[in-house]
Amino acid sequence: MNKRWTFGEIKNYVEKNSESKLLSTEYHGFSQKLLFKCSCGNNFEKTFTKFKNKNQRKCDVCEPPRPSR
Ligand SMILES: [Zn+2]
Repeated sequence: MNKRWTFGEIKNYVEKNSESKLLSTEYHGFSQKLLFKCSCGNNFEKTFTKFKNKNQRKCDVCEPPRPSR
């Protein structure tokens, strides 16, 4: 039961749930990397799944990726 997100819903979600901004202008699916702008000014790419489900809502500088161990 995966909800199908529209681009508008994703943009809203990003604005309401993070300090980052969405720079991408279209969304084609869960595997697509979206371009975000972090509150520090860095741009970063992430899939929306990671952004939403794994709480990766900032760039790698503000929030370094944790090694999965
Ligand atoms: Zn940052």
